[in-house]
Amino acid sequence: MITMEDCIFCKIVKGEAKSDIFYQDDKVIVFKDINPKAPTHLLICPKEHHHDFMAAPPEVHATLIEAVKTVREKLGDKAKDFQIQINNGRGAGQLVFHLHYHFMAWK
Ligand code: AMP
Repeated sequence: MITMEDCIFCKIVKGEAKSDIFYQDDKVIVFKDINPKAPTHLLICPKEHHHDFMAAPPEVHATLIEAVKTVREKLGDKAKDFQIQINNGRGAGQLVFHLHYHFMAWK
């Protein structure tokens, strides 16, 4: 299990690792994926550390869904159509074990 001390996204939250931050509030941070798979590829993360989708309580997901809508509104027309991807577990391609929603748009 990855601990908060060696979690790269926790380091981004604390400002200890560099990232291209798009938006943040008290609960959520949104930054650009370093290896984008779409013209717009953002990662929406809770500031609190949760290992994966299954480990996070429903209220955390509710906060992230609200953040999806905020991001969508901030991006405007270029993200009118978008995709959310969540990889839960290594077998599904999860590489970073701090819950995150991928937000991707192609326009
Ligand atoms: P996943 O495979 O769902 O765990 O997604 C992890 C994502 O995090 C990948 O798309 C990586 O490109 C991205 N990533 C890893 N490290 C960083 C970082 N330091 N800053 C921004 N994105 C990152």
